[in-house]
Amino acid sequence: MATPIGEEMYRWAGDLFPICRSITGHGVRQTLRYFQKILPELTICEVPSGTPAFDWTVPDEWNIRDAYVMDDQGVKVIDFNQNNVHVVGYSTPVDSVMTLEELAPYLHSLPHLPEAIPYLTSYYRPRWGFCLSHRARQELKPGRYRVVIDSTLAPGSLTYGELILPGREEREILLSTYTCHPSLANDNLSGPIVTTALAQELAARFDRRYTYRIVYIPETIGSLVYLSRHLDQMKRTTLAGFVLTCVGDDRSYSFLPSRMGNTLADRVAGHVLKHRAPGYATYSFLDRGSDERQYCSVGIDLPVVSLMRTMYGVFPEYHTSLDNLSLISPSGLGGAYQAILSCLDLLEENYTYRMTCPGEPQLGKRGLYPTLSTRENSAIVRNLSNVMAYADGDHDLIALAERTEVFAEELLPVVKSLFSAGLLKKVD
Ligand code: ZN
Repeated sequence: MATPIGEEMYRWAGDLFPICRSITGHGVRQTLRYFQKILPELTICEVPSGTPAFDWTVPDEWNIRDAYVMDDQGVKVIDFNQNNVHVVGYSTPVDSVMTLEELAPYLHSLPHLPEAIPYLTSYYRPRWGFCLSHRARQELKPGRYRVVIDSTLAPGSLTYGELILPGREEREILLSTYTCHPSLANDNLSGPIVTTALAQELAARFDRRYTYRIVYIPETIGSLVYLSRHLDQMKRTTLAGFVLTCVGDDRSYSFLPSRMGNTLADRVAGHVLKHRAPGYATYSFLDRGSDERQYCSVGIDLPVVSLMRTMYGVFPEYHTSLDNLSLISPSGLGGAYQAILSCLDLLEENYTYRMTCPGEPQLGKRGLYPTLSTRENSAIVRNLSNVMAYADGDHDLIALAERTEVFAEELLPVVKSLFSAGLLKKVD
């Protein structure tokens, strides 16, 4: 179902889709500045090339102005300005004339998806190359071609965005997304867009229980850089975290657990998906592919999961030009936004309760027991009775909901009324 926030996110996607992003460079800065207009508190940080991050080093900065392959008639048969996926990401500069045979090793296409331009990168080995649809490749005629990539790969910096929204508690919820893909929609422009919509909603709240740490980083090197700067604090304070990726299409919901599989993030995401998106696809940490690889790695061990629409690597358009604006939709983005917001709202309310009196309390004298036996009221009575049965100081709200087989959002009014009546107390 399309919602106003879904429509708005889709408009942002339209604005940002054409920008050529990579793990460094002006496209990332331009993207973050766009989000900064929506989130004025978003900080844009620069980390110089050569900075170590655990076992890695921040690479040189890559920028590209133009690239094409031109035939001897002056026709651009491959043109970066038509689609930025045409150039292998991080391509070194080239300006040369060569035969089709000489050019062939630098061309990449997908025979099994002849209409798709593949998306390729080479961040850590200097090379250049062009990607094109297999159909276009087969139309190239023998002859000489002018080959130009007007790029620079030079010391500069890696750019990331950070927004901290303080809460009543020091404990934090992490939202992490990546900003390193060029014109590709589900993986992954949808990630920073849904993250921004969630950040906008959270920033507008007067009262937040938890502190929110929201980061926009290039995948892998960015999470390593970020963790290398904030690990001590994040290990101490992170209660739950979510990697936001592939949150734009409308085909399915997917869940990738943390490495441990039993953290609070796993529990809340599993509970929300079970009730909001029954039939969702569950993967294992063996299927990991994004920044949870760093957040959940040995020695980091943060409770981080991914709640997605259709997961990277699974949808046929993945990492090709077919992952474009027609693959994502207002309802796809809006559904992911709502599912993740449900997780955050539940975490905010996820207290552990204990009954204050032995034996079942008399609800009637407190006005808690419905006197009319409607179907709706019998569900309320069942929930009241079940909450009282399991509010033993060991079950938090999510555990109570799982135990009583009710969506926690439905149980919450019952818990609140028992709490207001003094029959439940919060336990740390
Ligand atoms: Zn990707």
